[in-house]
Amino acid sequence: MITIKGKSVFGGVSIGKISFYKRNEQVIKRLHIEATEEEVQRFQSARATAIEELKGLYNKAMEDVGEANAAIFEIHQMMLDDLDYIESIENIIRTQEVNAEFAVATTADNFAQMFASMDDAYMQGRAADVKDVSERILNILSGNCNAGMVADEPVIIAADDLVPSETVQLDKSKVLGFATMYGSSNSHTSILARTMNIPAVIGLGNELSEQFDGKDAIIDGFTGTIYIEPDEETMTAMKKKQEEDLAQKALLDQLRGKENITTSGQKVNVYANIGNVADVGLVLKNDGGGIGLFRSEFLYLESETFPTEEEQFTAYKQVAENMAGKKVIIRTLDIGADKQVDYFNLDKEENPALGYRAIRICLTQPEIFKTQLRALYRASAFGNISIMFPMIISVDEVKKVKAICAEVMEELTAAGIPFNKDTELGIMIETPAAAIVSRDLAKEVDFFSVGTNDLTQYTLAIDRQNLKLDPFCDTHHPAVLALIKMSAENAHAEGKWIGICGELGADLELTEQFLAMGIDELSVSPGMILPLRKKIRES
Ligand code: PEP
Ligand code: MG
Repeated sequence: MITIKGKSVFGGVSIGKISFYKRNEQVIKRLHIEATEEEVQRFQSARATAIEELKGLYNKAMEDVGEANAAIFEIHQMMLDDLDYIESIENIIRTQEVNAEFAVATTADNFAQMFASMDDAYMQGRAADVKDVSERILNILSGNCNAGMVADEPVIIAADDLVPSETVQLDKSKVLGFATMYGSSNSHTSILARTMNIPAVIGLGNELSEQFDGKDAIIDGFTGTIYIEPDEETMTAMKKKQEEDLAQKALLDQLRGKENITTSGQKVNVYANIGNVADVGLVLKNDGGGIGLFRSEFLYLESETFPTEEEQFTAYKQVAENMAGKKVIIRTLDIGADKQVDYFNLDKEENPALGYRAIRICLTQPEIFKTQLRALYRASAFGNISIMFPMIISVDEVKKVKAICAEVMEELTAAGIPFNKDTELGIMIETPAAAIVSRDLAKEVDFFSVGTNDLTQYTLAIDRQNLKLDPFCDTHHPAVLALIKMSAENAHAEGKWIGICGELGADLELTEQFLAMGIDELSVSPGMILPLRKKIRES
């Protein structure tokens, strides 16, 4: 048995086989080829196989997720029939006398660059598609068809690290747990593990090796340990721990339907954080009073190109309807930093966390922002939706955001499309600047929600992605708590409410302090709703 210690992200025990996450990171070599016509044939046969695969995927997607979502596979098929694309590849093979892989990769880069530099957002989105279809051909040419996870049985996913776009594409029903070499507990992959109620351990280092692929393992998410090829004694102890955990969860279940009220009668709303429509099931199962943060950018991360207004409208409407009149706070897209989406074609930056992200993208690319706002306002006719804006640093930004919202509402009115004109608008307090000018900001909005993950990162100058800095990161740092308190006082002075939707909201050691500050709402991962209710009721 091999025991490796890391850092716990989410409690619980999972037992199963390890599947090492495989990436399509192929190194394409340039090889000299004499028989160029045979190489062209090799490309043509890989192209035909790719088209067949895409037809299969289209049919499966039609059944699983409907026509609108399946359309992407049809677009990909069309790309593979594009004469310019085919001619470019064949020409490179013939004139440069090189292998098909090199010709495909070069053409993919050239076409992607060409699309990315176009003015039209739709065409820009095709850059990611051309890379995607080319990747498919490259996989077929090299016989590597095992990218991502293809296991039939649920497995423990092991990886060096996973970026959010990789995590969202995993088939969640096949994931027993996560174990990664790197990562940090406030990274979005960790947040996703918590949302999905999946035991996870990060920071296991180089000891977690690809050689463990296929081996039996146990993740103890409570202690941050992974056991590989566990001995009988460990297996028995862990099975017992797993049973106890389930029993504890059953006990918490008895708190369903009870109020979030302290012994002295103070009430607080306990809502949930979600990343996609399917998470609503977990919120309802755990008796969440609402949704305090819907990270809408995951809709963009899950998509191969900009999600259309209609696709977004359908998702937001579904969440609002499923929550049946309970508050649903949807945050506008927070792309950038660790949440990179190919088709946005964002430049590489020296300091992405301090860079072009979130509201900064929305305010400079209003067409993307307005598509989302139209979808949100349209969905507001179907439930209790509030809109929240990330990464705000100034009153000026809020005024610009409100002006764009007003434009969208005017357009919808002119088109006779129903929406709730009283939709609440709120902002995230996740920069020290926002906390410091929160009195002025409070005059402009209906509510605040404190994003403690970023507020901590920016206040302490500690990269939330960097595990090495964990020893320096005092998550209860008095500076962060003072900024939260200041924001609460300023919100209340202007008659507005304030919540916390960062991970600190679920830190039970701070619940009493947050209650003393008069925090009105705590939004946590669905699995933390009932433990937090227990803590509040005991306070
Ligand atoms: C935060 O920063 O605390 C937050 C809730 O937003 P995210 O974690 O998505 O950056
Ligand atoms: Mg944030």
